[in-house]
Amino acid sequence: MNTQPVIGISGCLTGSAVRFDGGHKRMGFVMDALSQWVTFKPVCPEMAIGLPVPRPALRLVQTSEGDIRMRFSHAPHDDVTQKMATFADSYISQQSHLSGFIVCAKSPSCGMERVRLYDDKGNRGRKEGVGLFTGALLEKFPWLPVEEDGRLHDPVLRENFVERVFALHELNTLRANGLTRRALLDFHSRYKLQLLAHHQPGYREIGPFVASLHQWEDLDAFFVEYREKLMTILKNPASRKNHTNVLMHIQGYFRKQLNTRQRGELRDVILHYREGLLPLLAPLTLLNHYLGEYPDSYLLTQNYFSPYPENLCLRLTVN
Ligand code: SF4
Repeated sequence: MNTQPVIGISGCLTGSAVRFDGGHKRMGFVMDALSQWVTFKPVCPEMAIGLPVPRPALRLVQTSEGDIRMRFSHAPHDDVTQKMATFADSYISQQSHLSGFIVCAKSPSCGMERVRLYDDKGNRGRKEGVGLFTGALLEKFPWLPVEEDGRLHDPVLRENFVERVFALHELNTLRANGLTRRALLDFHSRYKLQLLAHHQPGYREIGPFVASLHQWEDLDAFFVEYREKLMTILKNPASRKNHTNVLMHIQGYFRKQLNTRQRGELRDVILHYREGLLPLLAPLTLLNHYLGEYPDSYLLTQNYFSPYPENLCLRLTVN
């Protein structure tokens, strides 16, 4: 298996001039920073169904019967819905190895949400459509991290997406190497603090499920359910409150080794983080320092300290 996560991406976001008007929508962060840590697999669904560049614009039409169709703006009877559905089905069914997908917003093919709908007569309707290709992707792989280019400008959503990509990649690798009970339990153990930071009720719910692993004869069936649960928990962006709980929890591991001044200093840094006076990186750096001084076998395994390559600098900007 590829050692880097493989991420699908709308071709125009990579800088390829595949848009209907002959342009592109290259994403700086994606192509200049993220591309060093992942392998991109670009696709342009509209070109894949045989449309040229440039081409007439497409739109989503909600018919009077309520169906969503994909038609050309200038030729409302020229309908390419079936072509797109056929392509999406056959393409997506071969992409189970993906660890994420970045799609182009607003597109009738690639948009993830809020795509403009039109009525039969060409009147503009609400922005509540989903691009046909991305809709099929979300339906087939509900656990897959999928984000739009615009939303990835938000530091919280960007960090959350990247974190989920690397978690799913680890899970995919686990499966590709052959599932064992030991490997699944080790994986879950390493993600405990990370899950706690994302969603405490989810963290508490998934524990008993993992504890039932010995009752599952079919490890792949367990994996499929576990993947769904884990990715759902991680989809909740880690909040400052939850991070604070995790940091306090970690602090407890150093209670015996630190003197009163050091404990007070560490507590102050965590509280300043909670109040928004310091970034997450501040308490994490201090805790990492103490972890180096006083190694703890459980904490050293925790993915929480390094959920993705730190050179992406995402924790500098988030929270
Ligand atoms: S939004 Fe999708 S269909 Fe449109 S140009 Fe980009 S990749 Fe192609």
